[in-house]
Amino acid sequence: RTNQTSPPKYPSPWGTGYGEWAAAYAKARAFVSQLTLEEKVNLTTGTGWELDRCVGQTGSIPRLAFRALCLQDSPVGVRDTDFNSVFPAGVNVAATWDTGVAFARGQAMGQEHRGKGVDMQLGPVAGPLGRVPEGGRNWEGFSPDPVLTGVMFAQSIQGIQSAGVMTSAKHYIAYEQEHFRLKADSAGYGFTISDGYSSNIDDVTMHELYLWPFADGVRAGATSVMCSYNNVNNSQACQNSYMMNYLLKGELGFQGFVVSDWLGTMSGVSSILAGLDMTMPGDSNAYDSGDSFFGANLTVAVLNGTVPMWRIDDMAMRIMAGFFFVETNTTRGPINFSSWTLDTDGPEHYYVGQGYTQINDHVNVVGNHGSLIRSIGARSTVLLKNVNNTLPLTGKEQLTAVFGNDAGPNVNGPNSCSDRGCDLGTLGMAWGSGSANFPYLVTPDTAIQNTVLSAGGAYESVLDNQQLASIGALARRASVSIIFANADSGEFYIQVDGNLGDRNNLTFWQGADTAISTVASNCSNTVLVVHSVGPVMLEQYKRHPNITAILWAGVPGQESGNSIADVLYGHINPGAKLPFTVGSNRSEYGTDVLYTPNNGALVPQLDFEEGVFIDYRAFDRRNITPTYEFGFGMSYTSFNYSNLRITKLNVSDYVPFSGYTPQAPVYGNMSLNASDHLFPANFSRVPLYQYPWLNTTDLARASADPQYGSWSFVPEGALDQSAQPIPPAGGAPGGNPMLYDALYRVQATITNTGSVAGEEVPQLYISRGGPYDPVRELRGFERLSIQPNTSATFSVDVLRRDIMSWDTVAQNWYVQNTTKTAWVGSSSRDLRLQGVLP
Ligand code: BGC
Ligand code: BGC
Repeated sequence: RTNQTSPPKYPSPWGTGYGEWAAAYAKARAFVSQLTLEEKVNLTTGTGWELDRCVGQTGSIPRLAFRALCLQDSPVGVRDTDFNSVFPAGVNVAATWDTGVAFARGQAMGQEHRGKGVDMQLGPVAGPLGRVPEGGRNWEGFSPDPVLTGVMFAQSIQGIQSAGVMTSAKHYIAYEQEHFRLKADSAGYGFTISDGYSSNIDDVTMHELYLWPFADGVRAGATSVMCSYNNVNNSQACQNSYMMNYLLKGELGFQGFVVSDWLGTMSGVSSILAGLDMTMPGDSNAYDSGDSFFGANLTVAVLNGTVPMWRIDDMAMRIMAGFFFVETNTTRGPINFSSWTLDTDGPEHYYVGQGYTQINDHVNVVGNHGSLIRSIGARSTVLLKNVNNTLPLTGKEQLTAVFGNDAGPNVNGPNSCSDRGCDLGTLGMAWGSGSANFPYLVTPDTAIQNTVLSAGGAYESVLDNQQLASIGALARRASVSIIFANADSGEFYIQVDGNLGDRNNLTFWQGADTAISTVASNCSNTVLVVHSVGPVMLEQYKRHPNITAILWAGVPGQESGNSIADVLYGHINPGAKLPFTVGSNRSEYGTDVLYTPNNGALVPQLDFEEGVFIDYRAFDRRNITPTYEFGFGMSYTSFNYSNLRITKLNVSDYVPFSGYTPQAPVYGNMSLNASDHLFPANFSRVPLYQYPWLNTTDLARASADPQYGSWSFVPEGALDQSAQPIPPAGGAPGGNPMLYDALYRVQATITNTGSVAGEEVPQLYISRGGPYDPVRELRGFERLSIQPNTSATFSVDVLRRDIMSWDTVAQNWYVQNTTKTAWVGSSSRDLRLQGVLP
């Protein structure tokens, strides 16, 4: 398993309009056939950082009344604007284990983006997957389990796209930590490296872990994929022909387009031949450099033949097919906001201060999403401990006391720290480009106080963890003490309290640990509520006799306080399950962040030596008992599992895909005469802005590249336009369609044996049985809502790929000749029923 290379793979597969993409390709073909070279180039190139309104904006095609494409963060809502919602983070969606939640949240976010004039939401996230628990951006994604992530990723994509907005499934791939992701932002912190780190991954781990959710995303119809900052096997992800040409567009049959992460493009022709279709924000090397690897340089590259005609056509086709996959009309509503200011009036071309006009219409797009957000917040809250039925509370407790900075507001305002880059007050949202501005943030202090007062109780709170005397005195008098604690993380460009994106440890922030012990040593009825981006160390609190209940509420978004009050007071019976493992020590995970460069001034090397053994797979393999295992979560009622049924379904044997693509199509006639591509006469240019036209007919001078004329960066086979073989594991978006055939149906009877209605998530785990396989792996789940003394049927299908393994030689999936065991359980360690797949 040490085949950690990135072999060259050319030519770049052209889109063919497989299956449900056929209609979008037909429309794209009609559109692209009318385009000039400049118009095609405009679709592929951002106009430059802060030079138009959106975080990323392409050029436009005025001749056909096609306005620029607006690309906007984030995976939790519309970033950098106002009157938008802040949804619960991806990690909360994973904790619901509810596919309907993922879709509904996606659709609501899509509606908000559309309402602002956004064409593509920059999300959802399946990379990072969560290799290291400290990973700064794990919360933007879902879970370190590829099946849970894959399902939520696919549902999110379909939800967003159902609102007529494209998605960018990101970050592809193996972007598993923040430290050293890029040379430039590492230099900003004084680290000298020649390039972003390399994630070194063997072929089995790539397929069985990191690529898995992207296969689901592609199969779900993702319109674009964003390539990541890091190297993979020492080749930059955004110019890695193995990852883009071979795996994504070849094996996974991806029909949409690849967009670079911001400043993730490292070259022009090389990246394009390796499969990159769009560069963002358009500038090369640095924001507002005034140069682009694409733009006019792409025009030059087509004219001199280093980018073949079919390839620029394929780039334009993929972009327009993505557009038509979600959208029928080429005329859309206007982009009605500016990412760079909330002022009503300002410069259209913000960075250069040109084009003063009204740039923010302040359109309110929140609809009734607040109630959805509140419900997701509650339904993603995991009950970890509940001694003597401490919870739910009644509100009639004589004195309710609430503690912790994490229960209260950021006194400077919920949006006072740019991109939520601080940890002040309650953690409603973590930091980075994956955040959005709050329309309001309901704190736990407010919501719990409202609940208690309406029930006629007494309420006091201490919202400063440093006030230990006040904390102790109040806790001593309280009937119930509820202490809130958090742990935050985010993106590398912001440092919070010494944490460069990735967390430095897995303990609580804001001095919460001392406050928790002070409360718990003074009150024998202490409830601990955790807001965190991922695992935090809870072992001592699990064991503490005075801590009678623990809840994990994740990163719940704007309705945070209402959501937790709904759970504390039993309006919502918790049914969520941990989407990751809570260990008692960071070393138990067996993987960690690289905090110091390990390769001198060269590329830091992250060897994924653990293979597929991350999170619970690591704990299971080494037989470590975690504090709270993956999939764990309690309820205010109880459930009985019985009557496991495994039915073998009738399906034919797996057949490797065979066949060839058509030869690369070319659309329309483009003049290859340099003089036809000069700037139009009297054209007034915005400074630093990216245009597709040339300054001169002398292509060498037009490019201003000292190495102009070298063809050394055109790899062998890259210009080949002839029919190409389709990989055996390929053949449709998501890979060989037979991988998704259902082989078995696993069912069980789940009975609510308690006295209140509740929700339970039975989980199907399978052992593939091979000597190098995980002890067991999640392969299915379903969130069931069950009335007391009533039963429901849990039913999931086992797909062919669920029992297959990756063959590195055949480059295909196969079934090992082993016994395959199935368990249905209430967590990854509470395995109630067991059987064998016949
Ligand atoms: C982030 C992306 C984001 C982009 C645009 C990058 O730094 O990695 O996730 O979409 O910026 O804001
Ligand atoms: C520390 C915490 C601190 C947090 C934020 C952690 O490394 O242990 O005490 O609040 O970082 O900086």
